[in-house]
Amino acid sequence: MAAYREHITFSGFLGVGYGAAAALSMGFSPVQGALAACATWVAGMLPDLDANNGRPIREIFALLAAVVPLALEHRIATWTGSFEQALFFGLLIYLAIRYGGAAVFSRLTVHRGMMHSIPVGLLFAQLAYLGYESDSRAVKLLMAGGVLLGFLSHLVLDEFYSVGWSGVRLKLNKAAGSALKLFGKNAAANVLTYSLLAGLTYILLHQEGLLDDLQNPARSPFRQAVEEIPARG
Ligand SMILES: [Zn+2]
Repeated sequence: MAAYREHITFSGFLGVGYGAAAALSMGFSPVQGALAACATWVAGMLPDLDANNGRPIREIFALLAAVVPLALEHRIATWTGSFEQALFFGLLIYLAIRYGGAAVFSRLTVHRGMMHSIPVGLLFAQLAYLGYESDSRAVKLLMAGGVLLGFLSHLVLDEFYSVGWSGVRLKLNKAAGSALKLFGKNAAANVLTYSLLAGLTYILLHQEGLLDDLQNPARSPFRQAVEEIPARG
């Protein structure tokens, strides 16, 4: 498998390209482009949340622990209605992810299991769409797209490394061909993954009013978001 350093380098470069393209040619602001670049970069590490130990894993959880409360800051403040409570809940989320995340994930996941799969990439992209607070669907789609891009870049890189570079005889290791996948070997993990994906898809479609708009596709919010892009800036 590709190492931590290769993953963050690869997704980092992709993120810069993605963010620059968004800011320079798609009418998003430079800050939105930079945030999309960061989303791509961080997402390039997400599949390895299933690795059971080691410094990279601690770093990924430390990074997520800092990023998640920050991204949810305004939302928490709206829920709680007070700065102090928002600060307190933000701290709780930090501690839960920082110190509880690795323990939970190491029990629930197998390295290169369903965390390394396309549906989980879609799941994280949906979380980014739902979690990123913006009035603009185009901006939310930009962030979700960055997460999906970074996540898939990790799977592609793992796929390359799983066949090895040594040449003539491609020595397939047991992880070979298992990164860019739709289903894993564990039935329970498959059911859990697709249940979460279905649930989140429903929430997303409902929140976006897409379920009500099925009769009238011209009013589709996603179509409006796409139409909104060239009108920006
Ligand atoms: Zn991996």
